[in-house]
Amino acid sequence: MDTERHNNISIFIPHMGCPNTCSFCNQRAISHTSAAPTAEQVNEMLKNAFEKIPDGITEIAFFGGSFTAIDRDYMISLLEAAGPYIQSGKANGIRISTRPDKIDGEILDILKKYQVTAIELGAQSMDDEVLFANERGHSAQDVRDASRLIRENGFELGLQMMTGLYRSTVEKDRHTAFEIIELHPDTVRIYPTVILKNTRLGELFKSGEYIPYSFDEAAELCADLLELFEKNNIRVIKLGLHASETVESDILGGFYHQAFREICEGILFRRKIEMEIPEGKEFTVFVSPDSVSKAAGHKKCNKIYFADKGINIKIKPDKNISGRNIIIQKDE
Ligand code: SF4
Repeated sequence: MDTERHNNISIFIPHMGCPNTCSFCNQRAISHTSAAPTAEQVNEMLKNAFEKIPDGITEIAFFGGSFTAIDRDYMISLLEAAGPYIQSGKANGIRISTRPDKIDGEILDILKKYQVTAIELGAQSMDDEVLFANERGHSAQDVRDASRLIRENGFELGLQMMTGLYRSTVEKDRHTAFEIIELHPDTVRIYPTVILKNTRLGELFKSGEYIPYSFDEAAELCADLLELFEKNNIRVIKLGLHASETVESDILGGFYHQAFREICEGILFRRKIEMEIPEGKEFTVFVSPDSVSKAAGHKKCNKIYFADKGINIKIKPDKNISGRNIIIQKDE
């Protein structure tokens, strides 16, 4: 199941004038390049989008900034622009993302009135020292409180976490994942930290104060987290930052790869094959039809990994296999 292809029409709302200074964020630097759309423009975008999409299979998603922290009248005008598409059944809900300290009973009443169905919180870390070091301006307790309120009010809850932030460690990132599981979100997004130009993290990186995880550390950790959330029936709807021209032109370091999820899934297949493979040199590994390239690994790295150990594996599809299950057949 590829939950990454989350079905929605996304409208980017830049958080201009955000008073926060999160270490990794370049909103201040790029806000002049991305104007906030007016309600009329949102209406036009939705009208065009829905001409190409069948009714009732998609959500309208306002993402990019802290939706509930933008000017209240503007926020309501955007929700009003989306409203008719929900009422007519063209869209099946509205998804927003925001900061944990910008959720309270009053704002939830407004969101409910305008038929918002899912709220995603940028938790980023559940370690107060990491939150403080990265100038998030909220605490782990804010994430717990906001998550509880969102669930109590009947919204779908999404939580976003970042790995490898300044002053974080692999253990702290794992701890964040365990704490997130305790909050029972419906969905999770995992973002390995990407270091962008014009950010404090960029300065810390250039001075040598901040050392990001290595490629392998980041990928192995995120593979663990993917497996952990899935085992707890939490859908990981994004793993790795969205591809964007801004990221590609402004990246200084950290981990960014368009096929990041596939790399992590490949690691999980490699571990599973390694655990189940018996003694021998020639094998065929059967996997679900949509997992053939994942099981082979990014650029066939899993086949190369086993070949380096003197083991030749072929990967073949079997439509009776689902998920990340495998059947290994000895060929000698
Ligand atoms: S990441 Fe932080 S600084 Fe950037 S828009 Fe969100 S709250 Fe503001």
